[in-house]
Amino acid sequence: MKFEEILICLDMHGCPNRCRHCWLGTTPNGNMPVSELAFAAEEFRPFTEGLQVYDWYREPDYPENYQELFAVCSRLSDRPGEHFELASFWRLVRDREYGKWLSSLGLKAVQLTLFGTAETTDFYVGRKGAYREILEAMDILIENKISPRIQVFVNRNNIGELGHIENLVRERELEARCRAFGGAFSCFLHQGSCDGKNEKWYDAWITQEDLEKIPPFFEAYTLRHFGKETLTDVFGRTEQALYEELIADSSTASYVSQSPVFNIDKDFNVYPNISTPAPHWCLGNLKRDGAGAVLENYAESRSAAQHTRLTVPLCEIVKARGDRGGRGLFSREDYIELMLNRYCREMGK
Ligand code: SF4
Repeated sequence: MKFEEILICLDMHGCPNRCRHCWLGTTPNGNMPVSELAFAAEEFRPFTEGLQVYDWYREPDYPENYQELFAVCSRLSDRPGEHFELASFWRLVRDREYGKWLSSLGLKAVQLTLFGTAETTDFYVGRKGAYREILEAMDILIENKISPRIQVFVNRNNIGELGHIENLVRERELEARCRAFGGAFSCFLHQGSCDGKNEKWYDAWITQEDLEKIPPFFEAYTLRHFGKETLTDVFGRTEQALYEELIADSSTASYVSQSPVFNIDKDFNVYPNISTPAPHWCLGNLKRDGAGAVLENYAESRSAAQHTRLTVPLCEIVKARGDRGGRGLFSREDYIELMLNRYCREMGK
């Protein structure tokens, strides 16, 4: 058993936030020693031509020794360490060196998430003062010649607050300030995948009618960001349309890839990076079972969710758990994962 590339992400320290839309869930934070990175790398290395190691899958750079962790991950990885365009706004406002360090890595943009007004953003981030910190983080990024990219998760409860975010972008002159150092401000909207904490918002899920409420400012930026022609291309089709299509689809599918990504939680449980790290996706425990057994479970589709998708025709899963009249908008894959998660949970898998 040899994979072309394996990417492993350890949730070493968790996250300072408790977002109400978090697809990864808001489990307690861990405190893994640095040495666990080498342990995890040694476990997986015999099974791949190329290994990539990350010390986080929730908040990047949250612990004090973030620079050391980045260096250790780079050393343990077969390709040079890459810093995604994601950063910790918690750290940006508490550690003046952090913005400079991100800039020294050549980062040109960093994504920050807003939900609307201060009250709404604090509510969804699950932490008082988060909105104020996000605004301060934008200024720090710009000082360091990094363009903020605003992501907005929308549902029917906060879609009416998009005007507030548009005003904020204009009042803070984000476009011009980024242009001034040769950067490019950007922003986009989406509904997120309907798993983890975000599944709780199913009843407030965005509908086709709601798309009319999206201001032209956000429409233009969102289409540019995703390279799409219409908002429907971004937000997907109604549950009703997907339901009708999928109840005629008796296919099954494998989630096994030659270059898998695995999320490893603070207790060393391993999950494929497909949907929320829930028990029905668990492939085993790295300490107890070792990487060989975990990878065999993955390759043989033995997690309950993989096994279900591989053996139960899609039409049965959707018939059992879908809503024929559902008006919410989903991409096809996100809808299948919603159905699969519900099916596994409700079958007690
Ligand atoms: S969405 Fe990101 S910042 Fe929010 S709780 Fe999840 S991992 Fe943390």
